[in-house]
Amino acid sequence: MGPTPTLKLTKAKLPLEGRWQESDLLIGEGRILAVGDLTGVPVDETWDLSGRLLLPGAVDPHVHLDDPGFTWREDFASGTASAALGGVTTVIDMPETSLPNCRTPQGLLAKWEAVRGKAWVDYAFWGGVTGEEVQNGSYSETMTALALLGVVGFKVYGVSGMETYPRVSSGEMRAVMAKAAQLGLPVAFHAEDRDIIEESLRGVRQSGGIGWRDYLNSRPAAAEWVAVASALQLARETGAHLHIVHVSSGVGVELIAEAKAKGLPVSAETCPQYLLLTEQDFIHWGARMKTIPPVRTQWDQEMLWQGLRDGVLDFAATDHASCRYPEEKETPNFFDAYAGIPGLQTFLPLIWEEGYVKGRLSLERFLAVTGRRAAELYGLSPRKGRLAVGADADLIVLDPRARWNIRAEDLVSKGQYTPFAGREICGRIEKVLVRGRIAGLEGEKAKEPSGDWVKRR
Ligand SMILES: [Zn+2]
Repeated sequence: MGPTPTLKLTKAKLPLEGRWQESDLLIGEGRILAVGDLTGVPVDETWDLSGRLLLPGAVDPHVHLDDPGFTWREDFASGTASAALGGVTTVIDMPETSLPNCRTPQGLLAKWEAVRGKAWVDYAFWGGVTGEEVQNGSYSETMTALALLGVVGFKVYGVSGMETYPRVSSGEMRAVMAKAAQLGLPVAFHAEDRDIIEESLRGVRQSGGIGWRDYLNSRPAAAEWVAVASALQLARETGAHLHIVHVSSGVGVELIAEAKAKGLPVSAETCPQYLLLTEQDFIHWGARMKTIPPVRTQWDQEMLWQGLRDGVLDFAATDHASCRYPEEKETPNFFDAYAGIPGLQTFLPLIWEEGYVKGRLSLERFLAVTGRRAAELYGLSPRKGRLAVGADADLIVLDPRARWNIRAEDLVSKGQYTPFAGREICGRIEKVLVRGRIAGLEGEKAKEPSGDWVKRR
């Protein structure tokens, strides 16, 4: 088998051709070398995984790891450690929650300098582009340069969440999409309409509201609906691939379904918070579940599950965004509370339990929504997102009978809070491998981080 050590995983059940099948799996040089009956094949090491399931590592294509610039909230080490323990073996980091932003090649390379060597799992980067680059005419050049550096696509905001990362107007969005179409890269869009939000906010401010209900009223589903509808028309005109991040509303799902039926180049994601919480949960969780956009109604939640099940929503993502708790969350005015949940460590367990175990998702859909589809869309396939010969040996060993409960104090993220605390999960992650090396073991991270930058192919 060559000079590099080989590892055989034996007696586990693997998801092959849509069902669980017992099979051996051989790892060497960080890749899956063979899947099948490997009795008698000489190897350096063998793990007996009787009673265990072997899953492909998850890909979380939407995380904010805050490094460099906001590292009191999260950094690459803490964020990727929580990924490793949660079974996420590749993260794709957003361009706006770091300083400098990743909207120039210099910004991206500065980020890489700051984070290299700190990651417990593999990572890719989103490129950034804002209204500023369109206004000063530099966007065409910066987008081309970022594409050459291997970003997976470009993130734009209809309503900015960060002062350091301005929004795009519809006109600026149109220019960005035309350029992205030329480059053949997707545009990930934070779909909230600024005019609707500003007007809603004005009404809330006049009434003096400072609670969670006021916050919800300030970010209505209509803002998502209008933004998605307008972006879809720009995708149609420019031919650019439009990706709608963190879809929160049933109307959003309906619009995306119609666009897909017409053959428009569109994809979409939603997050565990929208799938598992409704606005009633604010009574208990308060700002711990504050996100942008906010969690909505039971009807929205049902539409999102349906969308994820039938493929209108391509995959799930965390929108992982951590902060110092309780200082940045438990503020007297709900509007001042930081918006974001540290979701990396609970992502795969939650989709496993609530999606696959509870029967909302087939095994095939579970695998697609937790990694395969995102890896394909963002040019990380065939290395990432698959359990198959030739793919990176990014694997999860799971004991399907072990039950455990999510606890905030078990998170290794800097943000020690989660609105999923107390939920019971049937299936415990025992080992996580990244390119054949142990990244997480029995809830402890490995001794040395060995994550690498994975570029779009
Ligand atoms: Zn985000």
